[in-house]
Amino acid sequence: MNFSSIRSKLIVGGILRALIPMAVTSYVAIINSTKTVTQLSKVNEQFIAEGTAMQVAATLDGELKSVSAFAARTQVKIAAEAVNTKGIKGAPEAVTIIRQDIKKRFELLQTHYPALFLTDTTGTIYAEVMGAGEDLNNWNIAQQPTFQEAKTTRRTASSGIIRSVSTKEPTMIICSPVFSDTGTFLGVFGALLKASVITDLITARRIGKTGYCFMINEEGIIIAHPDAKNVLQLDLKTVKGMESITNAMMGGQAGAEAYVFRGIDKVAGFVPIKQKGWSVAATQNADEFLASVFSLRDSIILIILISIAATFMVVFMAAATITRPLKNVIDGLQDITNRKDQASLSKHISITSNDEIGLLSVKFNGLMDSINNLSVFKKVIEGDDDLDEVYRRLGEVFTKQLGINSCFIYQVMHAKNGLHIIYPSRFDQEAMLCSQNILDNCDLCKANRTGHITSSTTFPTICRQFTCQPGHGHHCLPIMAGGATIAIVQLLFKMPTDPTEMKNMEAKIFKAEQYINESLAVIETKRLMSSLRDSALVDSLTGLHNRRYLQEYTEKIVSGVLRRGKAIGLIMCDLDYFKQINDTYGHAAGDTVLKETANVIRHSVRESDIVIRFGGEEFLVVLLDISSGESMQIAEKIRLNIEQLKIKLPDGAIQKTISLGASEFPADTGTLWSCIKYADVALYRAKTDGRNRCVRFTGDMWTENQI
Ligand code: GH3
Ligand code: MG
Ligand code: MG
Repeated sequence: MNFSSIRSKLIVGGILRALIPMAVTSYVAIINSTKTVTQLSKVNEQFIAEGTAMQVAATLDGELKSVSAFAARTQVKIAAEAVNTKGIKGAPEAVTIIRQDIKKRFELLQTHYPALFLTDTTGTIYAEVMGAGEDLNNWNIAQQPTFQEAKTTRRTASSGIIRSVSTKEPTMIICSPVFSDTGTFLGVFGALLKASVITDLITARRIGKTGYCFMINEEGIIIAHPDAKNVLQLDLKTVKGMESITNAMMGGQAGAEAYVFRGIDKVAGFVPIKQKGWSVAATQNADEFLASVFSLRDSIILIILISIAATFMVVFMAAATITRPLKNVIDGLQDITNRKDQASLSKHISITSNDEIGLLSVKFNGLMDSINNLSVFKKVIEGDDDLDEVYRRLGEVFTKQLGINSCFIYQVMHAKNGLHIIYPSRFDQEAMLCSQNILDNCDLCKANRTGHITSSTTFPTICRQFTCQPGHGHHCLPIMAGGATIAIVQLLFKMPTDPTEMKNMEAKIFKAEQYINESLAVIETKRLMSSLRDSALVDSLTGLHNRRYLQEYTEKIVSGVLRRGKAIGLIMCDLDYFKQINDTYGHAAGDTVLKETANVIRHSVRESDIVIRFGGEEFLVVLLDISSGESMQIAEKIRLNIEQLKIKLPDGAIQKTISLGASEFPADTGTLWSCIKYADVALYRAKTDGRNRCVRFTGDMWTENQI
């Protein structure tokens, strides 16, 4: 798989796009639910600890009350008073009675109390009863702080949980003071209480599968724990990770904390039992109460995995729908670029989708069409005969192919300082939206004068010569060659009214400019060729056309005149005794005479007539569109003008005469060249008849032997 391909990017991007928000949301959800559940669990643990602590306190209280109640009994008081006044040994009866009484009590209560006893004020036991293995003789009750507390505070006191010296069982001592009716302290009624009565409340408490309760005393020693090994053995202060919670518990605080015990995350709630300085804790493994969060997490992971798979499939399919048409485009492009011939330009990419890629293909095909059209156009104009044809073809492309409303192409006639309309060949004067003055003075045309595009799309009244018809626009482009403007292309259009039309119009203008740019090289070449050919067709001495010109244009001249149903007059002119000039004044003077003569003949005929230097001092005048007999009038005019001409030479002015022979086509003969010959025959007659005259050809002048 190519990771830089669009498909890979789409797939990776698509998956990340779907996955990242999901992962972030899931992470936040898990973190939040972990926090919430942990918080709930803390509250729960503290609540359990509180309940258990209350039970412990109540049970302990109950036991203290039981012992107190026993101490307050009359029998006890009687025995204690007797012992107090007479001494233990002095009151054997009272002692015996009370022993019996205690024994009975013990039988009833021994499940809670391994021993019950009575002491005198000094703490000496005089009546006691003990369960199996218990031995009160090992104790000096007088030294027990509980005894001292009961004696001094005159209230029932209890010890902490201690290990019985005899049975090694966790035990508590309870001492309740015995008073006389007058309130004299008579000794204590004491009881050893099985600590399990209290601690079972702790150890029996289960929270879920992993949760339990434990209790420490004011020194941090475990006094109740489901694991009996810990009881009176484990000092919580020494347990790593529980420093904070131990401090809080020993400080008598109620609360809840998360902690780590032997690598396991736990949460504990703790509540003090104020009267003893103990603290009950309820603890549970975080795993257990977070199970719901873990199950949520597992579900999320599963959903993510399924989503990745689903996203992958969807994105893969989506990517395929995008990349397949792209691949088609690439294949199409390859197909086009692999070929080097003309056909490749006309090839199109097949359009396989309706989307942006389809649009890309359409645009590409459009571009290829434009390039192809331009390339075809260039080839066509290269084959065109002359520059005029190129201009005409450009005009047709603009109006017919590009759909520009109308177009004028003006050729700049530098010699006359005017413009000549090349395209269209025929047009209505009305259609020319420019002032006609530009035709006579090309400097009036702004595009020509400045050499820059002059467009009403940029500024409506940019050119004063554009007879601004409302709603019409022009875009005039100068065609430059050799540093000068040689033609102006004027595109005319109805001014677009909305932006879409404007855009269309601009696109058409842009295409027109492309065609012009593409044609520039061809135009330049054709122009050069035409000027070369023109120079080959012009006589360098007189500036008149030469005989080759006539040869080249005979057909055109004849067909045009015949089409118009008109005639051609042909006048062959030859200076009389010209040789003498050369002989007398020299060859240069002869040249001067020839130039002057040519000038006179040129100005003796119409602009549209053609004057040709036919030979050394022979000139042929081709009069176009004449009426019958008109040729002789023109010939006579030429003759007279030459006769009156004074030619200035270094040695003085001279005057010459000329002889002329005239014929008319097609009246005299059906071929132009025969007709020229007839004019020559007529000229010969003028020479032989005495020169300085005009002779009209007549059929009798032509004999077979003259051929
Ligand atoms: P005609 O009246 O019979 O026509 O006599 P012509 O002397 O004019 O005729 P011809 O044919 O005998 O002489 C023509 C002369 O023109 C011969 C030639 O030297 C001269 N010529 C031809 N071309 C030129 C040219 O270009 N310059 C000059 N100076 N002379 C030329
Ligand atoms: Mg001659
Ligand atoms: Mg001559």
